[in-house]
Formats: sequence, C-alpha cells, structure tokens
Amino acid sequence: MAAPLKQHLIDPEICIRCYTCEMTCPEQAIEHDEMNVVVDAEKCRFCMDCIPVCPTGSIDNWRVVQTPYSLEEQYSWEELPEQAEIAGGADEAPEAAEDVVARLLAEAHEGAGGRMHAPASASKPTVNLYSLSNPVEAVVQGNWRITSAESDSDVRLIILDFQGRPFPVLEGQTLGIIPPGEDAQGRAHAPRLYSVSSPRDGERPGFHNVSLTVKREEGGVCSNYLCDLKPGERVRVTGPFGSTFLMPNDPEARLLMICTGTGSAPMRAFTMARQRMVGPRPGHMVMFFGARTPQTLPYFGPLKKLPPELLEQHLVFSRLPGRPKEYVQDRMLAEEERVAEMLADPATHIYICGLRGMEAGVDAAFTSIAESVGLSWPALREVMREEGRFHVETY
Ligand SMILES: Cc1cc2nc3c(=O)[nH]c(=O)nc-3n(C[C@H](O)[C@H](O)[C@H](O)COP(=O)(O)OP(=O)(O)OC[C@H]3O[C@@H](n4cnc5c(N)ncnc54)[C@H](O)[C@@H]3O)c2cc1C
Ligand code: SF4
Ligand code: SF4
Repeated sequence: MAAPLKQHLIDPEICIRCYTCEMTCPEQAIEHDEMNVVVDAEKCRFCMDCIPVCPTGSIDNWRVVQTPYSLEEQYSWEELPEQAEIAGGADEAPEAAEDVVARLLAEAHEGAGGRMHAPASASKPTVNLYSLSNPVEAVVQGNWRITSAESDSDVRLIILDFQGRPFPVLEGQTLGIIPPGEDAQGRAHAPRLYSVSSPRDGERPGFHNVSLTVKREEGGVCSNYLCDLKPGERVRVTGPFGSTFLMPNDPEARLLMICTGTGSAPMRAFTMARQRMVGPRPGHMVMFFGARTPQTLPYFGPLKKLPPELLEQHLVFSRLPGRPKEYVQDRMLAEEERVAEMLADPATHIYICGLRGMEAGVDAAFTSIAESVGLSWPALREVMREEGRFHVETY
C-alpha cells in the first residue's frame, strides 16, 4: 500500500472566491469553476506562497490521504471532508523526507532497539512542510541564557516567530536550522536538528511561536550561530520533522521522562502542553533530569517553581562539591519502587532524550528495576515500543 500523503485543500465554506491564491501560485496549482477554488495535488509543491495572501484562511487546510482527492471531487464539495482514519496513520509516514534529516533521526532513535511508533492517542504530525530547497524564514523574538551566567555551560532558550507562515508542530518534533555560510569544502552547511521545546499552540499560548533549547558547542557551527542571534534577526528553518517521538493526548497516560542537558527540550514541551491541556495529576509526569551541577542544568530556576502535582522532579547532579557523583540511572535505582510501579502500568510512556552516553546506564537501570518485580526488561521494552510507549532520541 502506498504511504499516506499530505494534501493541500481549500475550505469551500469559508473561501470568498477572490482568486488571490490562484494568481499567486507559482505552480499554477490552483484553479476554479463557478462553484469552487481547488488545488491540484499533482502540481502543488507546498511552497506556501498562497498561505499569507488568503484573506480568510480557507487556503490553509491539509488532509493526510491514501489517495489524493481529485479536482472533480473538490469541485463538488460544499464543505471539506473530515480527516479520514488512515491505516497506520501518520505513524507509518516517514520521520523526514530528506536523506540528511532522515539519517540524523534514524541515528537518534537507534537506542529504542527497533522501529518506534507514535503513541496511539498522539495527534497526527505535519512533517516536511519546509525543505532544504524551500525553507521558511523565522524571526528571532528572544534569546535568553537559561543556565547560570557563572557556569561554563551556555544553554539558551531561543524563540522563533514565523510571521504568519504556518509552522504546525507537535511536542517532541524537531526542526532543522540552516546555518549561513559554507563548510571547509565550500559546500553550503548541512542543517542541524533541534527539538521543539514549546507546546503545539506556541511558547505563548495561541501565538504559535516556537522555542528551542540550544547548547553552545565549542567550535560548533550552528549552535554558536543560534546562541549569538539577536532579536529581529532572521533564521532559515526546515521541518517540522519526526512522526514517532510524540506525546500521548490521552489525559490518563503517564509520562516517565529521563533526560540530560538539552534532552530536556521535548520534556519541557510535554510538561507545558500537559499543564495547558490536562492540568496537575499527581504521579502522571515523572522526570529524572541529569546535569553536572544546578548551575549547568537548563531551566533550573523555572523548574523549581513547578508544582509537584504537575511534575515529579528528580534533579540529579554528577559534580556537586563534596558529594559522590550521581547520574540519572543511579537515581532511578534509588527510586526503584516508583519506577517499577510505572513500568507495570500499561498507561506509562517512557521518553529518553539527551546525550547518547546515557543510554547504556539507563538501560541497565531498567533491567535491574524490571527484574525486581519479576519482569524482563527486553521483553517489556519490545511490547512498549510496539505499543508506541517507548521512545528514545539521543545525539
Ligand atoms: C534529533 C536531534 C535533536 C537535537 N536536539 C537538540 C536540541 O534540542 N538542542 C541542542 O542544543 N542540540 C540538539 N541536537 C544537536 C544539534 O543538532 C547539533 O548537532 C549541535 O548543536 C552541534 O551542532 P554545531 O553545528 O554547533 O556543531 P558542529 O559544527 O556540527 O560540530 C559538532 C562538534 O564537533 C566539533 N568539531 C567540529 N569540527 C571539528 C573539527 N574539525 N575537529 C574537531 N572537532 C570539531 C565541534 O566543536 C562541535 O563540538 C539535536 C540533534 C539531533 C540529531
Ligand atoms: S502551496 Fe504553493 S504550489 Fe501549493 S497551491 Fe499554494 S502557492 Fe501553489
Ligand atoms: S485566497 Fe483564500 S479566499 Fe481567496 S480564493 Fe483563495 S482560498 Fe479562497
């Protein structure tokens, strides 16, 4: 069976038949009769030129389809059809279309031990709306350091505004940043991926702006470019990407989140989204978050203000003066009962994100904790992954 496709459609109930979109489209993909304005799926290249010019927003409609609606079908509509249930849904869709991005995501997901699936109750993600040859420009709204100024770790919260262009993201997705300039071989720099750290309705609710959590890497091309950006500067963005590392919408779902460093980015998005959509539910969001010190832990201050009923936090530090080194896996073992109880609960979804080096220790901790309650971690992990409840993204 062919993979599901995204189709661009016009809402005939809202469209005022001004034909501005038709005059704007560089592909001549839009046409009309006396009844409707329609988009030819074979011609539309998703360039988005028609989106900002439409006075009603009726042009900004999308469906995931197995077979695209024909022009004849669209001409006959009085209203847009509902999104049909697609077998396998977005979960069967690729994480990204372009090889360079698909490869990065495949490597980042290797630690899951097999193909990951989206949670059953996750929203359908939009992927590949903007490509390398057709990026969208975002404007920097803000750039704040979120680690202590005294620490040697410069991690920043960077907020991007898409100036009315659509950039529909779900928590857990990533976007690509194209740094300006060329590499040593004179080729344009490859895009780098960054996890979205804001909820689907925006860093500020309803504003659909997107935040990133970026760590400055010494000598790194893109991270230094991003960390040095000033408000008002423009950035070329591709994406969104990722169709499996997504949050369940089910309010009964429980999230066990294990992260280090900027792996906290998707966890921040999950937490803000749940805070807005579900509200506090004790024991439903549990986070193990590792850093060297409180000064190098991103969002240390804001995290301290979150109520424990919303987010149970285990902040773990490996370089506290006069204290033995502690890593996330050590704290998981110390909290064996809590973790075991969550492992045994079929409502639990596990997310691991951050430095690749954390995977082995976390896996060993899960093995030991599962054994303590008579479970086999490899078998349970397989079941959870198949059910869309086990997710790894490390880099
Ligand atoms: C799925 C995914 C999600 C990600 N999410 C985030 C996120 O939310 N936040 C985040 O900060 N990062 C994230 N990353 C990492 C990010 O994509 C970049 O890899 C990171 O910012 C480094 O990119 P850079 O261009 O700054 O470094 P690069 O220029 O790519 O260099 C990488 C490292 O190699 C070193 N290096 C470069 N050239 C040389 C050389 N010639 N000799 C020796 N060393 C060299 C640099 O000093 C640097 O430390 C994610 C990655 C993936 C795959
Ligand atoms: S997205 Fe681009 S190609 Fe598609 S209909 Fe709009 S203007 Fe035409
Ligand atoms: S620009 Fe918008 S309102 Fe005008 S014809 Fe196109 S879809 Fe309809």
